[in-house]
Amino acid sequence: MSKRMSFADRPTFTSRDVRAGCFVCGGTDPLWIGGHAQGVAARHHDATKHQTWTDVYMAIRYGEYAVDDRQTDIEDAIASASSGDRPVAAPLPGNDAPTVTAAGVSAPQGRSSKHALTAAEPEIQTP
Ligand SMILES: [Zn+2]
Repeated sequence: MSKRMSFADRPTFTSRDVRAGCFVCGGTDPLWIGGHAQGVAARHHDATKHQTWTDVYMAIRYGEYAVDDRQTDIEDAIASASSGDRPVAAPLPGNDAPTVTAAGVSAPQGRSSKHALTAAEPEIQTP
């Protein structure tokens, strides 16, 4: 949902994203999306006395999309930092300080990674 208006030579783009839900029925997951979402949330509260919520995100953009020169500068900075120029590092402590030996060692491999993968899978949402 996006529309374009033009004032003089200033193109303006707005888009609105409306999401609503019920803390009782769906927690913070949106149950209703779009222009009717707020009204549905209000009527759902009327009917059930559940606490419902509506979030509106409105984005406004002025001007046409153009290549941002600053982005190129950032990429150049990253490229020069990773190739050639030494990164700025904190001075190392004296010889009497303990040496951090675990810095380059990867995490222990003892546990199976299957459990972690299962836990990371997103929940299937059924409306
Ligand atoms: Zn509800």
